[in-house]
Amino acid sequence: QNALLEIDNLHTGFNIDGDFHHAIKGVSFDVKPKEVVCVVGESGCGKSVMSLSIMQLLPKHNGKIDKGEIRFNGQNLAELSEKQMNGIRGKDISMIFQEPMTALNPVLTIGFQIDEVLLNHSKTSKEQVRKKSIQLLKDVGISRSEQIVHEYPHQLSGGMRQRVMIAMAIACEPALLIADEPTTALDVTVQAQILELIKKIQDDKGMAVMLITHDLGVVAEMADRVVVMYAGQVVEQSDVDRIFHDPKHPYTQALLGSIPKMDEKADELNTIKGIVPTLTKMPKQGCRFVDRCPAAMPECKQIDPQLAETDKGHTVRCLLYKESQPGEKAEVRT
Ligand code: SF4
Ligand code: MG
Repeated sequence: QNALLEIDNLHTGFNIDGDFHHAIKGVSFDVKPKEVVCVVGESGCGKSVMSLSIMQLLPKHNGKIDKGEIRFNGQNLAELSEKQMNGIRGKDISMIFQEPMTALNPVLTIGFQIDEVLLNHSKTSKEQVRKKSIQLLKDVGISRSEQIVHEYPHQLSGGMRQRVMIAMAIACEPALLIADEPTTALDVTVQAQILELIKKIQDDKGMAVMLITHDLGVVAEMADRVVVMYAGQVVEQSDVDRIFHDPKHPYTQALLGSIPKMDEKADELNTIKGIVPTLTKMPKQGCRFVDRCPAAMPECKQIDPQLAETDKGHTVRCLLYKESQPGEKAEVRT
C-alpha cells in the first residue's frame, strides 16, 4: 500500500548562538493510510520537532528543515506556500497537543472555535456549521454539547478541553491525525478515556494516526507500528509485537525495562541513567547513545551505526548487528 506520509531523510535544526544544530538528523519512516504509528522516546529526542516539521510550524526566527523531504500523498510539504499549507492543516492533517489550554483561545467560546475550523474549509451556512459543531462534541463524548458551545475553555476540565481539541481536529475528517503527547497532562483515568476515544475515532473514520509519546503503556495499547527515536534519529522500527517481544536496540531494551508499574505515573523515562545529549552537546561521530549504553564497545565512539533491516520490517541502528555496520548494507527505509 502507498504511504500517506513519507518522511524521507529529514534534517531539521535550529540556530543557537550563531551555529546551526540538528534536532532531527536523517529520520525516515512512513505512515500508511489507516495505520497507527507510535513515535516513542524521551523528551529531547526530537519527537515534537518532528511533528512541527510536518505541520510546517517550526519557529520562523531560528528553526528550519535543511535537508530531506516530508511528502503527504506524494507532495513535498516544504514546497507549498503558506496559503496552500493552511489549506492542508486542519483539513487533511490535524494535530492535537499535550496542553489544550494553550491551543484553545481563552476569550472565544468553544462553539465559535469549532465553527471556525469548519468555516475555514467549507462554504456551509452558519446554522449548518453550528449544528455540525454540536454533533462533533457529541461524537467526542460530550453530552451537554448544546450548553458547552456557549462556554469558554476555562470553564471546562482538562479532559473536556482535550475532547474539544479532538472534536476540532476531526471536524474536517483529516486523513492523518498527529497527536503529540495528547494525554500526558491528564490523570490516569481520563488518559485512558481519551486514548479510547482516539482509537474509536481512528477506527470509525479510517484515519491514520501518528501518536507521539514517551509512554510505552500507550504504545502497547494503540500502535500498529513503532518508531523509536533517540537524539534526533530513528534507532529502531518495527511492528508493535516485535518491539515488545524482540527489542533489538539497547535503548529500546532499556525503555522496556523502565515501564512503570500500573499505579505509578510515568512522567518521564528517567530510570535509564543519564540524559539525552542536548543539541549543542551532540557527539560529532559514533553512536549517540554511547554514553548511556550498557553494551557499548570501543568502536561505538568512532563508527556511525546505520539504520538497517535485521529481519523483514524490523530495522535497527546499532553496531551489535552486522547489518548496521557502514558498508554492510545501504541505509534502508521501510
Ligand atoms: Fe550501544 Fe554501541 Fe549499539 Fe550504540 S552502537 S547502541 S553504543 S552497542
Ligand atoms: Mg515533546
